Amino acid sequence: MRPITLPWKQGVKLLQFLYNYSMEITQKETKSEDSVISLMREMGHEQVVFCNDNDTGLKAIIGIHNTVLGPALGGTRMWGYASDNDAAIDALRLSRGMTYKAAITGLNLGGGKAVLIGNAKTDKTEPFLRRFGKFIESLNGKYVTAEDVNMKTSDMEYIAMETQHVTGLPSYLGGSGDPSPVTAYGTYLGMKAIAKKAYGSESLSGKKIWVQGVGQVGMYLTEHLRKENAEVYISDLDEEKLKNVSKSTGAKVIEGDPFAIDIDIYSPCALGATLNDETISKLNCDIIAGAANNQLKEEIKHGYALMERGIVYVPDFVINAGGLINVYLDYLKEYTKERSYSMADKIYDNCLNVVNKAENEKISPQEAAIELAEKRIREVGNVKLSF
Ligand code: NAD
Repeated sequence: MRPITLPWKQGVKLLQFLYNYSMEITQKETKSEDSVISLMREMGHEQVVFCNDNDTGLKAIIGIHNTVLGPALGGTRMWGYASDNDAAIDALRLSRGMTYKAAITGLNLGGGKAVLIGNAKTDKTEPFLRRFGKFIESLNGKYVTAEDVNMKTSDMEYIAMETQHVTGLPSYLGGSGDPSPVTAYGTYLGMKAIAKKAYGSESLSGKKIWVQGVGQVGMYLTEHLRKENAEVYISDLDEEKLKNVSKSTGAKVIEGDPFAIDIDIYSPCALGATLNDETISKLNCDIIAGAANNQLKEEIKHGYALMERGIVYVPDFVINAGGLINVYLDYLKEYTKERSYSMADKIYDNCLNVVNKAENEKISPQEAAIELAEKRIREVGNVKLSF
């Protein structure tokens, strides 16, 4: 690993204090004792829809964060939340993230997300899902759904029986199918862009890269990286996946503690919140560029903690937008594989813009990305006001 001198490290402490102070609102997001309406006000949500149906057992929350650029698009996930308030907070945080992802990617979409409260293995029945579809239909296209955690294609088929506002269905139903290959491609391009900035060349040949999680996205990403002769180390909780991906790509399975390896690039492609108090101090890398959503456990505190360590972090919602591009084209009924990949090419420049802005303004890349997203919403919103 080659140490990089980052000019933005100077002055970070003062900025961090000022930013923490001004962003108190964002940090409040995670406090479950806050009322939903006060969180909506603080995070800028337009609407939150609570859905209940006693007959089917359906309990759902649809977060609609911002629809200035277009309809609020974002997947539906099902989870056994510890409390209804936790579910509401998840819907609020995820829908806000979708607003930023769409805006910074240049899509004419707003941000939304739906959560279903319950046990995905036992509670999802045909009536349950179709009743949920009816609720989505009642919003007249203001919210458009897609597949997310714990939702299967067959579940989406039931939802689509009751609403036309579903996107990303499988190809045999006329949809764009699995978005993971495009997500992986965009992540690969974003990684190359930041490598160019940090090392002076976008080539990943010989770079030591840890891909954490070789599910759908991690597997395709590993293929791209290995084709370029990167030295890829993989980890996953699923032994079978590790064996298969290692065999097909030649990536090395990590035995023992992944943090003990001296790497150049860490690519989180599993779950969120892997950048936290415990991990940041142990990380031994120059760049973090991965597809997992919500990688920073606390977006302000940990964004700045990475800067302090001199590690360049590419915000997840900028680098992992390939999947959203795929479903956006599907929603517009303009999907072709070529078009989707060609739009994903822009992720390279988007990642560079964010990291350059952060460097110039001595702010965290997360903050820079949010500023760019909010700027586009503001400016395009003003254009839309004219007749
Ligand atoms: P996936 O479920 O196919 O793969 C996730 C993998 O991570 C699984 O193999 C799982 O076993 C593994 N995993 C879980 N915990 C782990 C841990 N602690 N250490 C190592 N591995 C672990 O999911 P996916 O579709 O590949 O998505 C990966 C991430 O990217 C998720 O955070 C997802 O939200 C995000 N994302 C995916 C897409 C997409 O197009 N699929 C788009 C944007 C963002």
